[in-house]
Amino acid sequence: MKVEFYGHVRQYHNIKSEIDTNIQKVLESGQYVMGPMLKQLEGELAAYHGTKYAIGLGNGTDAIWLALMALGIGPGDEVITHPNTFFATAEAIWIAGATAVFVDCCPKTKCIDPSKIEAAITPKTKAIIPVHLYGQCADMVAIKQIADKHNLKIIEDNAQAIGAAGPNFKIGQLSDAATTSFIIQKNLGTFGDSGALVTNNADIDAQVRRLRNHGSTARNVHSYGFNSRLDDIHAGILSAKLKHIDSYNDARRKWAARYTAGLKDCKTFDMPVELPGYHHVFHLYVIETKKVEWRDQLVDFLVKNGVDAKTHYSIAIHKQAGYPWGKQARIVGPVPYAEANAACCVSLPMFPELTAEEVDYVIAKVKEWDAQHAAQAPAGKGPAQAGATCCCSK
Ligand SMILES: *Cc1c(COP(=O)(O)O)cnc(C)c1O
Repeated sequence: MKVEFYGHVRQYHNIKSEIDTNIQKVLESGQYVMGPMLKQLEGELAAYHGTKYAIGLGNGTDAIWLALMALGIGPGDEVITHPNTFFATAEAIWIAGATAVFVDCCPKTKCIDPSKIEAAITPKTKAIIPVHLYGQCADMVAIKQIADKHNLKIIEDNAQAIGAAGPNFKIGQLSDAATTSFIIQKNLGTFGDSGALVTNNADIDAQVRRLRNHGSTARNVHSYGFNSRLDDIHAGILSAKLKHIDSYNDARRKWAARYTAGLKDCKTFDMPVELPGYHHVFHLYVIETKKVEWRDQLVDFLVKNGVDAKTHYSIAIHKQAGYPWGKQARIVGPVPYAEANAACCVSLPMFPELTAEEVDYVIAKVKEWDAQHAAQAPAGKGPAQAGATCCCSK
């Protein structure tokens, strides 16, 4: 059996008529850029998030750096995030000209550990970028308390968690802006690139709207800006898919629960943690091997057996060769959990259109590998989750 990592074409076939109708509508309208379909999608995105504003943009990276720019954050300023995220989170800080400051992640959620943030704050610190990694929200309540105390801005990097929520907060409520990516592999993805920003702040909305379209506020009137627009064909595809996002996320949660039940007795890896009261939307289902050397062995075994397992992300940002050390990047304290996450993570296939047979086949293959190595498994948690003394252990 072959189990793919993504199900983009299955998803297209399931709602083909809705997508095709919207694309057709755009083609017939004669308006392909900044047209009525974009306006419609922006209204739907704001309603979905419960925010006053939503702005369609070229991609998720632009959404982060345009948010930084709208907040006046640039050269000489510092922005705190964590190093076990997709490279683009840091890249956006660098494009804005600011310095990325990395602290460790929480061993349970893999999101930024709020208890590590204050030690990284200096007079230059302007913002925190929590990433809702793998589909689970960072502890926004704790992050907001720190931000308020030190007068910092918050931009949520929500590329991986549209539809997720915390115990008593929604995405976009406790921050200045939340950004997202609609590249195809995200929970809400178009057949190409694009992104968006949601906010309740009228000034951020006005600035980002201007910046994305050559600094234009009226025809032929420009100030400094860029081109980062979400075109109407992608808006039409996204509008069709947005109607299904909650059921897509529910399907991901169903497959995650099936993995968790099927793999619970395994000895060689730690399971993903869903914190009580959090609504995890499982952008990725990531297990963490209890020995570093087991990670590549497990991935190789699965791939050889037809299961397209992957790693997210096997090189922490501060270990990347292209990392601008000393200039625009600083690391605060040891980051053992971020490094162990990079060393031990294995992502199992996860998309709404999986079948029970496919999930059960993945479970069977993972269990087969586990049985071969269980005798060598260390007692207790592996390095990525051992000794959790983070915020959420309280
Ligand atoms: C995908 C992703 C981005 C970047 O999105 P693009 O649309 O590819 O620019 C940023 N941050 C995180 C956490 C992501 O997963």
